[in-house]
Amino acid sequence: MAQLFDRIALIGIGLIGSSIARDVKQLGLAREVVVSTRSPETLKRAEELELGTSYKLSAADAVEGADLVIVSVPVGASEAVAKQIAPHLKPGAIVTDVGSTKASVIAQMAPHMPKTVHFIPGHPLAGTEKSGPDAGFAGLFHGRWCIFTPLPGTDADALAKLKAFWEALGSKIDEMDPEHHDKVLAIVSHLPHIIAYNIVGTADDLETVTQSEVIKYSASGFRDFTRLAASDPTMWRDVCLHNKDAILEMLARFSEDLAYLQRAIRWGEGDKLFELFTRTRDVRRSIIEAGQDVDVPDFGRHSLDKKV
Ligand code: NAP
Repeated sequence: MAQLFDRIALIGIGLIGSSIARDVKQLGLAREVVVSTRSPETLKRAEELELGTSYKLSAADAVEGADLVIVSVPVGASEAVAKQIAPHLKPGAIVTDVGSTKASVIAQMAPHMPKTVHFIPGHPLAGTEKSGPDAGFAGLFHGRWCIFTPLPGTDADALAKLKAFWEALGSKIDEMDPEHHDKVLAIVSHLPHIIAYNIVGTADDLETVTQSEVIKYSASGFRDFTRLAASDPTMWRDVCLHNKDAILEMLARFSEDLAYLQRAIRWGEGDKLFELFTRTRDVRRSIIEAGQDVDVPDFGRHSLDKKV
């Protein structure tokens, strides 16, 4: 595949940053890839894995001369990173991020970006419950959506170039305004994770059912929640704090609907339960038809990983 950038700087080299690095290397999308992360341990590991062509502890040093800068750190760290890199960005550079919340990342980063660079916030909807540079893999973004939330007046050529980059990684592209993105993600991603954290926490606290029974019989349904509930605590703390309004709105709606379900069970209203469970089954079917999952047991994680 053709080289799209001369030098790419990756700030943050965990699951997402290292997956980008692996794709860039495999596809030959850049001549140089400068990897930067705050801890010497992670940087050393990135070097052992040969994720880049050079390695810097300082984000400021890493962005010098880069044509594309991709920030892949927990969303709560966005402002600190923006402040560090801003004075060192090359004029004309594209600066993007992969954060799971968009309005907050824009509020944190945009004020620090020099007028000479193109700041284009983005969010690839791909991931796993794992974190760190060892967790990444080539093909993670293949067949997945990447949503951009460009600011008004964004340079069309820069946006087209960034889209071409994500398309090269196999992503499908969409654009939204940041507030809409945050509402959509609150329901499709943030709420499911919060529910999973909650249900696994409840099971962990139960006194009438033992821990060993919860684990032993987990395949009955509980197991599927534990995958989400094993996601990175730092990342998800930041998502909750930085998409607070949309998450609280969805949680209020969720609680109302749960009360409806609770009432239907209490009063033996089987028709209401049956109607809901039929509707939700159709949602699952639509997801499979849209190619966002495969119809095999264990929710297709393994098959999906092999496919990409
Ligand atoms: P990760 O595997 O935990 O890696 C995080 C990276 O950020 C590491 O390089 C880490 O550095 C660095 N970092 C952590 N705290 C930092 C701080 N306070 N200041 C500067 N750097 C810091 O995380 P990830 O899963 O790649 O997630 C990165 C971003 O992608 C997040 O914004 C997340 O919302 C978004 N995202 C995640 C997923 C997913 O499923 N995981 C999907 C889409 C988008 P050290 O190791 O050196 O400390």
